[in-house]
Amino acid sequence: YTGQDVNPLVFDQLFAIKVKELMVPPILVEQTLSVYDAITNLYLYDVNSLYVKNEENLLIGVISQKDLLRFSIGNANAEQTPVAMIMTRMPNIITVTPETTLLEAGNLLMQHQIDSLPVIDLKNKQSVVGKLTKTHVMNHFIYAGNDSNHI
Ligand code: ADP
Repeated sequence: YTGQDVNPLVFDQLFAIKVKELMVPPILVEQTLSVYDAITNLYLYDVNSLYVKNEENLLIGVISQKDLLRFSIGNANAEQTPVAMIMTRMPNIITVTPETTLLEAGNLLMQHQIDSLPVIDLKNKQSVVGKLTKTHVMNHFIYAGNDSNHI
């Protein structure tokens, strides 16, 4: 049973749908936010990562729960250290656009072993319009399974 055997209608519904249909609003924080406050925000917004913007509201970094944990574990300075010190920075951030297919986005999540992808505007390359997470990708497949009588 290979991908080529999948009914084209089912394939489109499952894999060819666009990121814009699954993305959620991103939590964007300032680069001056402290590591301590970043951790608080993870709980407040119930997310696993935060996106960091500059004064022009452009994406400059990604900070994940493990980035925060790695810093906090041997360091008492979480209240004084800004997230800018420990975030993953542009140009090393993997992004997608609203028009990227779920199959392409899923391959990026797997290849780079990351849990989310910032969705950036097609024209304004550093402007974040959404977030695609592994959780939302999985929800999509489970919903489709539950709904399989209809597809
Ligand atoms: P965690 O390891 O905390 O569960 P991730 O797997 O998302 O979270 O992140 C692993 C590492 O990759 C972290 O250092 C994080 O900063 C970085 N990272 C997360 N998302 C991206 C992305 N879209 N592009 C590049 N690096 C990322």
